[in-house]
Amino acid sequence: MDADRLPDELDSAEALREMVLAQRRELHTLRRENGDIALLLEALDALLQIEGGEDPFASVFAVLRPVFRYSEALVLVEPVEADAPLVCVVATQPTLVDGTWSSDRLFDKVLAGRVTATSTSRALAAPLGPTGAGVVTSDQPALYLPLGLRRHRGMMVLLRGEGDEGFDRRDIELGRKFSLLASHALAALSANRSESERKRLHQLTEQLEAAQATLTHRANHDMLTGLPNRAYFEERVTSALRSASDRRLALAFIDLDGFKQVNDRYGHEVGDELLSQMSERILGLVRSTDVLARISGDEFVLLLNPVVDDASLDGVIERILRALKEPFTIAGVRIAMSASIGIATYPEHGTTYQQLQRNADVAMYSAKSRAKGSSALFDASLGLAVAERAEREQLVRRAVAERRFRPVLQPLVGLRTMDVYGFEVLARLEDERGTLHPPSGFIGLAGELGFLDSITLMLLDEVIDVMPALDAQYGPATSMSINVSARQAVDVPAMRRIVERLQESGRPDRFVIEVTEDAYLHAGVFQRDVQPLLHDSGVRVSIDDFGTGFSSLATLLDVEAHELKIDRSFVTDLPGRPRSQVILRGVASAARALGISVVAEGVETEQELRYLQSIPSIRRAQGFLFARPATPTDLIATARDILEHLRSLHAANAAPTLLADARLVS
Ligand code: C2E
Ligand code: CA
Ligand code: CA
Repeated sequence: MDADRLPDELDSAEALREMVLAQRRELHTLRRENGDIALLLEALDALLQIEGGEDPFASVFAVLRPVFRYSEALVLVEPVEADAPLVCVVATQPTLVDGTWSSDRLFDKVLAGRVTATSTSRALAAPLGPTGAGVVTSDQPALYLPLGLRRHRGMMVLLRGEGDEGFDRRDIELGRKFSLLASHALAALSANRSESERKRLHQLTEQLEAAQATLTHRANHDMLTGLPNRAYFEERVTSALRSASDRRLALAFIDLDGFKQVNDRYGHEVGDELLSQMSERILGLVRSTDVLARISGDEFVLLLNPVVDDASLDGVIERILRALKEPFTIAGVRIAMSASIGIATYPEHGTTYQQLQRNADVAMYSAKSRAKGSSALFDASLGLAVAERAEREQLVRRAVAERRFRPVLQPLVGLRTMDVYGFEVLARLEDERGTLHPPSGFIGLAGELGFLDSITLMLLDEVIDVMPALDAQYGPATSMSINVSARQAVDVPAMRRIVERLQESGRPDRFVIEVTEDAYLHAGVFQRDVQPLLHDSGVRVSIDDFGTGFSSLATLLDVEAHELKIDRSFVTDLPGRPRSQVILRGVASAARALGISVVAEGVETEQELRYLQSIPSIRRAQGFLFARPATPTDLIATARDILEHLRSLHAANAAPTLLADARLVS
């Protein structure tokens, strides 16, 4: 089995995980270090503001405490006379001041400029005289930071409590930075500053200013993308509006479609990377006078300043929509995205930031509900779109209350035998006039409103009722495939209710649950809690729409699926599309190696059928070519026609199949 473990797929999944973990670590470190460096700069700032005669260290000690988490700090200085002992000139513990220590190897090393950490502090525990004695024990971890003090050499020593954790590599690294900057700062403090010291002071001031600028930038910008944040954007728009006079401006609200799913599938780190890449693409298409901002998770706003005419406004929005539809590649994974954009213009749709933003938002909402990946310009009638959704919601609610959901069934057939081995159950909404509506108009909404469980149970009731009559026409062993959404699939109580209903039917083993790969990505809930439930009652699992989602073969290794349904997009025009052929063959043979049977979805033509028949590892299919979904009543009434049609397909395609198989064998 291991030989079939598709090393490329596993490697890339593994590589992605590795990358994500590394990024998370790096981000964490960066955030922490930024904070620490800001504190160090504060310490230096304190040093620089010291007037002559003040103790330069008291405020520095205070600022450094949260950075290095020390309990005591002192500064030792090397006197001018050779071989004279080191003197403590300042310390958090007054009893240490004026204490002296004879120079030793460790001190020498530090005075020569080496930042050093030790787990003990034996050298400090033994002062030469009574001053400072008994203050430091020999078991306190210590960090020695060299300092250039005017013309003396010296060091700052930070001590932690006895038994505390020692200073680590990160402390040493920060200590090095501090040491360097502090020495410069101290040099700059010196009364008669030399030329080079003045230069250093200048450099230091520049560094401080740069740090200041970084901090201001951080307050006004989004950390992840570096774009202005909501508050700063509002400021920029307000000031643009103030100076607009008779110029036109536009505010575009850009909302990503399905960003949440990307986060759920690939994790937040990949989501973050996607947001950064997106913002770069947009920035590449706008002018320097335009302002792009990120105002929340997956919402961007764009100020277009000025709007020359409607055509150029349309043009840029169109280019942005198109650019965002180009797939993104993150750590080797291709992710297809789109965004919906709503636009409000000044002065037509508002004269304040609030009005423009609200109206752009309404327009975005209307674009999204009409077609994801499109744009809409605000217009007063858009209130209607909101009303329309409310109406559709009402329709679904009423249909649930009145139990007006009906199952239609589509036969599943054996590719070589053309027998009907099962049916897929598909939901339809029946309106007041008795017309059946396809799921595209209501399934998403019903999911949002939390109605899918009751809809599934409604369909099950009817299917279970008609099974005996269906069996009379199609044989007693056909399977019934039920669709559940990824969200249902990881809702353990909901799945338990479905399983109970199947058990009541007396033949749970005839049922198959179809789930998309997304179900497997919710922290293993499906694998851990739901799969055993299904397994124990004999209900089988089929992976639906394979190839459209996360679509990693590695998913297969992680699940106990019995069946895999290859999405229609791989089957359509198969004979003319070599890429689909390669994918199809690869997936099918991998699945077969894992003991999973493969169903090709959406077969519409005899050419597709013949091609599929030439792939030995694909044995089953579904599609309009064999039979369209129909109500149970129709399926029973027309069973003869359907079976006759399948027999004639069998007769017409049997010979080429044998030929194709023979070619494969030879
Ligand atoms: P699906 O699970 O992939 O179902 C197969 C869809 O492909 C059905 O569309 C079916 O009518 C259509 N189809 C089958 N053969 C062909 C073909 O040869 N050509 C083409 N063009 N289409 C073909 P339908 O019934 O409109 O369902 C659409 C989707 O709605 C389903 O896709 C499924 O995701 C969802 N759905 C349907 N019933 C339920 C349900 O009871 N619960 C849930 N959660 N989702 C459902
Ligand atoms: Ca399905
Ligand atoms: Ca499907």
